Amino acid sequence: MIITDIKCAVIANSPVVRIVADEGVDGWSQIETPKPYVQPPVLQLKPWLIGEDPTNVERVMKRIRSRGGFKPWGSAVSAIEIALWDLAGKALGAPVYKLLGGKVRDKVRTYRTFYHHEISAQHTVADYTRWAAEAKALSGGYKMFKLPSSFHSAMAVDVQDYFYGETHKEAPFPYPNRGLVTEAGFDHAVAAITAAKEALGPGYGLAVDAGPGYLAYDALRFAKALEPLHLLWVEDMITGDYSPFVNADVYRDVTQATTTPIHTGEQIYLRQNYKDLIEKHAVNVIGPDPCDVGGIAELKWIAEYADLHGIAIAPHGTANGVFGLASLIQVSACLPDNYIAFEYPARFEADGFWYDIVDGFDGNPVVDGQIDVPDRPGLGVNFIPEAAKAHLRPEDAGFFD
Ligand SMILES: [Mg+2]
Repeated sequence: MIITDIKCAVIANSPVVRIVADEGVDGWSQIETPKPYVQPPVLQLKPWLIGEDPTNVERVMKRIRSRGGFKPWGSAVSAIEIALWDLAGKALGAPVYKLLGGKVRDKVRTYRTFYHHEISAQHTVADYTRWAAEAKALSGGYKMFKLPSSFHSAMAVDVQDYFYGETHKEAPFPYPNRGLVTEAGFDHAVAAITAAKEALGPGYGLAVDAGPGYLAYDALRFAKALEPLHLLWVEDMITGDYSPFVNADVYRDVTQATTTPIHTGEQIYLRQNYKDLIEKHAVNVIGPDPCDVGGIAELKWIAEYADLHGIAIAPHGTANGVFGLASLIQVSACLPDNYIAFEYPARFEADGFWYDIVDGFDGNPVVDGQIDVPDRPGLGVNFIPEAAKAHLRPEDAGFFD
């Protein structure tokens, strides 16, 4: 079997990838919703892929891994990797988890990042209490939630004098605000997060996404103030989402001085760039995203290495779409016991049509915060071209041909 074409279309701002092989088998994958600009980098990989046997996944990946980088530039390579596993699974008539070594669990736990804008909430203490009540009422019965706060939210601009730096209100994403948090801003964040945790109650896990934006010693002070809350983790305080670097030494100083679990890693590309973070025990939890780190086998390798070092894993995935959901389920079924939960890619559900243009899911598959691992070949999800065609842009009209 050989690869005959690589196609990429943008549906609702989300690039979707199709690897076409002879013998009539396709591999599908998807890139995060806010990255339509990654379509050309996907298509530029074509000359390295045409004519290769897609079932020799690693051999193909060796040809293109050098073409990626930290988020967002690892996503094209990652999408190809995931589509290759989908294609290989279909060619062999096996679910992807069988190709990754087999599943070690029949259900995978997922956590839900619940955004303030979903309920038109802001960043008052009362808003955080309401946030918790609305989170518990979401369908799916999630038992773990992530709360965007502090520099990872509008709190840094909505709360007056939140920090001492210049407040950027209109600067482009991502995360223009960074600096020392004022005492009043600090106390407000702790009070709001405490209100959310108390409203959730002990039956629910709470993670807080808080940066990047903290100075290191302020990050430690924040983590220590949150210690009584028994949080799942605090994420990306120092570096993180879209930081093109890691700063493992600085994370280590914070992590080793607090009992609040410290988490980072969603922007990191490849196992080599996790090496320092893991070997230095610089964080307690890592959060690689299969759609940015280099794919699902890459993520599994990192999970195993983290487990050897006593570090847990909670894969990132908020914007990975319905094919990203399928790949998170497959790889999470295979991860060692340091696996906590993956981030449910809930953002695609707001588009309202994705479950109608693919087969494999009859709507949101989460029950009591978990998802049954499917046994269908490949990722277990396929486009229904007749239904999906209506969502293609005119320039992508040939995607399913
Ligand atoms: Mg994050």
